[in-house]
Amino acid sequence: MKLLEELPQDPSRVIRDYFPITEDRQLDRIYSEYRLGAYLLRLVAATNRRLEAWLIELEGDLFERLYDDRANPDEKKTIFQELFGKENVMEYEVFKYKNDEKDNQNLAALYQEYHSRPRSTTQNFLICVFFTQVPPMISKRKGYLRKGWVIANHKEFIGSLKKAFEKKLQIEIENARDLLGTRETIDIAVKEIEQYVAKHAQIRSRFSETDFEGKDLQSHPEIFPPCMIYLFSEFEKTGRLIHAYRLQLGFFLKKIGMTVDEQLHYWFEKSVDNVGVRFEEFIRTSGYQIRHLYGLEGGKKDYNIPKCSTIATSYFCPFVHLAPNILGEFLTQNHLVKRKSIVPSQKQLERMISLSSSNPTLACSQYFPVVYGRSLYRNIAHPMQWTRYASKVEGLLEEKSSKLAEKKDKED
Ligand code: SF4
Repeated sequence: MKLLEELPQDPSRVIRDYFPITEDRQLDRIYSEYRLGAYLLRLVAATNRRLEAWLIELEGDLFERLYDDRANPDEKKTIFQELFGKENVMEYEVFKYKNDEKDNQNLAALYQEYHSRPRSTTQNFLICVFFTQVPPMISKRKGYLRKGWVIANHKEFIGSLKKAFEKKLQIEIENARDLLGTRETIDIAVKEIEQYVAKHAQIRSRFSETDFEGKDLQSHPEIFPPCMIYLFSEFEKTGRLIHAYRLQLGFFLKKIGMTVDEQLHYWFEKSVDNVGVRFEEFIRTSGYQIRHLYGLEGGKKDYNIPKCSTIATSYFCPFVHLAPNILGEFLTQNHLVKRKSIVPSQKQLERMISLSSSNPTLACSQYFPVVYGRSLYRNIAHPMQWTRYASKVEGLLEEKSSKLAEKKDKED
């Protein structure tokens, strides 16, 4: 419990402290203690969906860290087999000879490329996974697809491994449910731990920043970062947003305190696609995606807003996705600056526009003082950083929370 509580604050330290590099026997003891605790937590998670979402998310993160930091190549190969199934995993050399691919130039090139990387021989290895196990690798064209097998460096598979791990954990939690109510001693222990965990997990299950609780921030767009204000205004104006942008705005609204019911009503009422659709019908279709954001469907994960670098590649950042003339217009017309009667100077505009192509987060960081008249002590790397600073400037976040804000910035 302590380990999982500390993990989001400082994952590297947690791995160092709880899973030290030590002799094998010592390590066996550590892992078996961990397994006992982990099993008890599965029982606790089986009592309530919020705790289930919380546990799946944290253990997923822990799995990723341990895979990266602690497992040696042999252990990694075993993890592949356990999560994808032995029949769906094949070593590169075995694949080559079994399929008579010795003369395949693409495979040779892949091998060459992987061998030219630093640390390639000891820690990295090529591995083949049957395509049915890794659909995101196919859609993102990661690795080399040959005869139904995806061949790539093992590191490329980490996202799919983590997903498979989380799915397995979800099944384990479901199976653990069968044990509940069979023995009084177990039920008493589970109840006690549930109360303790719920105090911690409840904060996260509200899916909002604790220092923003009860502030009704969705009605204060003046503290929205440029990416979110752009999407928010677009949606208010047109009633439409493409899927990825709806997700981005949905993550944000959740984080600033909108409950799942509020979001369901918000998207239902504003979206033009819902004309003629009854609310019950909407809940069954689009409502699924919104409930998913809150970890109430699918993988039961408490999704966070992606950081700026991810938004730049997969979502929407005005500094990345708007053409220079449109960006210039947005930076001057944006209601943030209009509301404050601020007009960026020509020099400031030119600087931000020229920075946007090479360093969008720096351009965004330079926009902040233009809008709020206050400098940042750290450049923007995450939309919540903007939101927290802006809330402080706008008097929505008390000064006493500033320490927390600084800590959260570091976490972001
Ligand atoms: S740099 Fe980050 S916070 Fe700023 S607009 Fe882009 S994604 Fe949003």
